[in-house]
Amino acid sequence: MVGELLPKFTDGLVGSLLCPFCKSSEETINHIFIKCKWSLRLWSTCLSWWEILACLPEKLNEWMDCWQVLCQAAKSIRVWMVAFHAIYWSIWDIRNEVVFKQGVTVIDRAVEMVIWRVVCVGGMGMLRSLVVHL
Ligand SMILES: [Zn+2]
Repeated sequence: MVGELLPKFTDGLVGSLLCPFCKSSEETINHIFIKCKWSLRLWSTCLSWWEILACLPEKLNEWMDCWQVLCQAAKSIRVWMVAFHAIYWSIWDIRNEVVFKQGVTVIDRAVEMVIWRVVCVGGMGMLRSLVVHL
């Protein structure tokens, strides 16, 4: 299990311990994935596809449990389950781009990454299910 803090090692040096998205809070697993305002915006955007408003819990493992409960509100359960991992994966990829490649955080690009990953994992049938909600 990775520690709570997510230190960045670049060229052998430890980088900033601040969140690469908001640069105002310490970067922890829970902050980067569910508490950061940037990540919250991505989760909210994706949840809006199913017209779901949710208040995210404090911890990522609690959010995983809630996601499965919210699944009952989604009409396409398979898309719903893949979407969680696609969102999580996209946050991590963009975080690494910002940290290691001086990338930028653009929410539209993150949304495109999520959609692309849902399609790659689930195929065109899953895209049709997702398009109904977009
Ligand atoms: Zn942040």
